[in-house]
Amino acid sequence: MLAKNEKKLRSELRKLKKSGIKNIINGKEINSASKKTFENFSPVDGKKIGDVAYGIDKDIDKASKAAATAFKTWRNVPHKERKKILHAIADNIEKYAEEIAVCESYDTGQPIRFTKKAAIRGAANFRFFADKVIDAANGLSTPDTHHVNFTMKQPIGPVGIITPWNAPFMLSTWKIAPALAAGCTVVHKPAELSPVTANILARAAHEAGLPKGVWNVVHGFGETAGKALTEHDDIKAIAFVGETTTGSHIMRQGAQTLKRVHFELGGKNPVFVFDDADMERALDAVIFMKYSLNGERCTSSSRLLLHDKVYDKFIAKLKKRVSKIKVGNPLDPKTEIGPLIHASHQEKVLSYAKLAKEEGAKVLVGGNKPRNLKNGCYVNPILVDGVTTDMRVANEEVFGPFLSVLKFKNEAEAVKIANSVRYGLTAYIWTKDVERAHRIARDVDAGMVWVNSQNVRHLPTPFGGVKYSGIGRDGGEYSFEFYMETKNISVAYGTHAIPKLGVGN
Ligand code: NAD
Repeated sequence: MLAKNEKKLRSELRKLKKSGIKNIINGKEINSASKKTFENFSPVDGKKIGDVAYGIDKDIDKASKAAATAFKTWRNVPHKERKKILHAIADNIEKYAEEIAVCESYDTGQPIRFTKKAAIRGAANFRFFADKVIDAANGLSTPDTHHVNFTMKQPIGPVGIITPWNAPFMLSTWKIAPALAAGCTVVHKPAELSPVTANILARAAHEAGLPKGVWNVVHGFGETAGKALTEHDDIKAIAFVGETTTGSHIMRQGAQTLKRVHFELGGKNPVFVFDDADMERALDAVIFMKYSLNGERCTSSSRLLLHDKVYDKFIAKLKKRVSKIKVGNPLDPKTEIGPLIHASHQEKVLSYAKLAKEEGAKVLVGGNKPRNLKNGCYVNPILVDGVTTDMRVANEEVFGPFLSVLKFKNEAEAVKIANSVRYGLTAYIWTKDVERAHRIARDVDAGMVWVNSQNVRHLPTPFGGVKYSGIGRDGGEYSFEFYMETKNISVAYGTHAIPKLGVGN
């Protein structure tokens, strides 16, 4: 299987060498107006993948204008036709699933066991929103005595979508599919560290019959291409996934043009394990939710809040399992953790293990680079025990395979610990006490809570965070709330009084 994946990758890399990674504007793959490119390297072996268009404000302007022109027709494309095109895009994603999975693994370091699923989930995202196209414009009827009021929803206009490097393919589909279903047109700015699959996806969409200009891609850096997109007057809204501090910048940058923003930001999510929990299932979920996707996952349970009665037993089991997690080449289906996105991120994650020790916590597993994997950005999974709420490792998002364990004595203390951070994305609660589960679910600062479960995404449900973890919700109808405007239309029956002016008193 590894050999087959590597063969597929080699053929994709040959294609990429030839084509480069260009901007896609108005249906055409073109170089940047800057005439410059930047190099993209793989975290697997440090080798160059390709030259990427160095997008600047002129490219953003061109793409935004193309999106604005295309919006005039795309918004009026009959629902059935729009639905058909979105399903055709899903068909193409399935057709290219293998190519997407190997490229995503090589570009990001994410193990193929996850990127394979991401490609399929990407197609499912398009199908889900394709089936919603017909109802997306539906509104509410709110009749009054003399008027009938009704609302309809209309696409907001061309939108900017800015995505991060951790799960670039999946997150792009998640944002772009509802935008297109709503009738919006798109300018996508992918992360500079993981640009490859954005073009495969946009190409697949054009091949499926998406009209030119509806979906544009401009590569480049946050401070140049990203900033220009958030400031462009033709762009009516920005859907952003990334770091909390970047969210603040985007809010400032978009203020002048009154951008609507949707932010999915960082997290430091708690998983509560009480003494009455199903220990084996809790253990599986704790490990999966921290060490899958290289721990580079916004919803990961990065703080384990462990009841003191089961502390030692649970930690012993956890330590054994974490030590056995298989780190290796992401193209190998057996690999559980691949290389982190970049050498600087590798150093950042390792520096937190050092910091944990300095702060008085204990590194039970990892904190070093694997000896047998010299070339890539690999780290062994890290497990840190004896963490307290005053430590930085209890508060800051490490965004790697790094789990901080904190001890609690009772429910009140557990909730206090959980809510002591500035983030509030997800929480996971493991207990068999139904009443306790409900109390914590109500009281914990989080946009999403799972009880006795890892994160299992159900597309109609709202996805998003509170506090510094985000603004707005994705999923089902919630996505349309963002990408559409609600218009109220009030029609009189002809029976109401109209005040008369200018007729004398
Ligand atoms: P990042 O904020 O550094 O970059 C994300 C994107 O923003 C990139 O495309 C980047 O080029 C762009 N950008 C940077 N500065 C910009 C600016 N001033 N204006 C406009 N665009 C700009 O994030 P990252 O390091 O790529 O991703 C990791 C972060 O993403 C983590 O904090 C993680 O928690 C978060 N994340 C959140 C979710 C969620 O759903 N809440 C999902 C995935 C990742």
